[in-house]
Amino acid sequence: MSHSLKPARVRFAPSPTGRMHLGSARTALYDYLLARKTGGQFILRIEDTDRRRFVPGAEEELMQGLRWLGLNWDEGPDVGGPYGPYRQLERKEIYQEYALQLIESGHAYTCFCTPERLEKLRQEQQKRKENSHYDGTCRALAPQEAAARVAAGERHVIRFKMPRQGSTTVHDRLRGDITVENRNMDDYILVKSDGLALYHLAHVVDDHLMKITHVIRGSEWLPTFPLHALIHRAFGWEEPEFVHLSVFLKPSGKGKMSKRESADLIKDGYSIYVKDLETLGYLPEAVVNWIALMGWSYDDHTEFFTMDDLIEKFSLDRLNPSPAAINFAKFDHFNGLHIRNLEIPDLANRLRPFFEARGYLVDDARLLKVAPIIQERLVTLEDAPEIAGFFFQDVIQSPAAEDLTAKGLTPKESAEVARQMLVLLESQPEMTANLVEPVLRSLVEQLGLSPGQVFGILRAAVTGQKISPPLFESMEIIGKQKVIERLRSAIQVLERAGDG
Ligand code: GLU
Repeated sequence: MSHSLKPARVRFAPSPTGRMHLGSARTALYDYLLARKTGGQFILRIEDTDRRRFVPGAEEELMQGLRWLGLNWDEGPDVGGPYGPYRQLERKEIYQEYALQLIESGHAYTCFCTPERLEKLRQEQQKRKENSHYDGTCRALAPQEAAARVAAGERHVIRFKMPRQGSTTVHDRLRGDITVENRNMDDYILVKSDGLALYHLAHVVDDHLMKITHVIRGSEWLPTFPLHALIHRAFGWEEPEFVHLSVFLKPSGKGKMSKRESADLIKDGYSIYVKDLETLGYLPEAVVNWIALMGWSYDDHTEFFTMDDLIEKFSLDRLNPSPAAINFAKFDHFNGLHIRNLEIPDLANRLRPFFEARGYLVDDARLLKVAPIIQERLVTLEDAPEIAGFFFQDVIQSPAAEDLTAKGLTPKESAEVARQMLVLLESQPEMTANLVEPVLRSLVEQLGLSPGQVFGILRAAVTGQKISPPLFESMEIIGKQKVIERLRSAIQVLERAGDG
């Protein structure tokens, strides 16, 4: 870890309004990397003031997702910290206090316009083909009058008093300076009539009080970025550094993915939701590697990164502002790489639940032998039961005669080949691959058949599958007794078919 950089305080500030997807995971990852890289802090803040969009369980899914990805936070709602509380709903009074300060300093005002009036205004503006915006009616109210109406209990909101003249320039680390004309911006609501602050005010106050140095967030916040900077400036606070990340595009590269399209992906074994990726058998290491590169690069060729590599190499300077297409083929590739990077006991541990989910009773000693022989072939952990479930079955379903019959041979001829293998295998003291392989290979030569023909029969007989992990290693794991048993019953199946 390099501490030559100023320690950054970086927050991930999700709203519990839906499922955790790749976009939020990437933001959290960059937050985490910057914090770890600089020896700073990674802070989790839950932005839950929008009660209409609140989704029960979303916060738990977020936290689980972060933990699964290995993005552990130093401060947050569950672990606490010196700048808490870390849930915005619990900070309601803080925002009210700061909103009042803005009113006092002339940067905000109370607005008593009713929802009905605002709706009428909106319709009129629509007719005139104007962007809908507040017309500033309550801006002109004398402060004493406004205070009296508030004291009398009149329903109101608090709005930002956007300057009517001039322009505002803000700086984004990725995109440089951005200048907007103030007259094109609205008098945004800071506090709603229920007394809850909106994001615009709440996050500015929190970022200041929590001493946040870098705000990394999605580019959907670019349009209101000048407003946020103006709020910081109205308080006389130093602004954190802002980084607005690019959006993710559909795999085709054309446009953003819709909700419906996201849901449809699962049919192909993919998903943009973090929790689903775990269920589908992807490794968190692969997710991290993949999303790290969707908006950042180290150089133009290095692809494989562990979390430690990323912490060492990450830098805001190498972020890329152009949108990245979600490429699942690449994801599969990374998953394979990271599966092969695992130590066997670790791989075995991660495979166990996938076998168990398919109803296999997993013997740990056997699993440790199976893991290395399938490690090369797995794209996801979920592939394992399909390829190697038979190792955990005492009795396999007898393969059909046509699956046992070698290409170019009749069932009867195949039975004869199987019998010869049986004789050879029975005479071996044990079924180790080293012992068995040369014996069977010389049989292949002796019979003048191809290895594919001969071993195809054996593979189907012993594993019950046309495709399996390496045959001789598989036989070693299954053991002599079962190999012989299964070969015998295969011979019977072939003989019956030959008679028919
Ligand atoms: N709660 C905001 C969101 O989920 C956070 C944006 C930010 O990081 O400031 O989009």
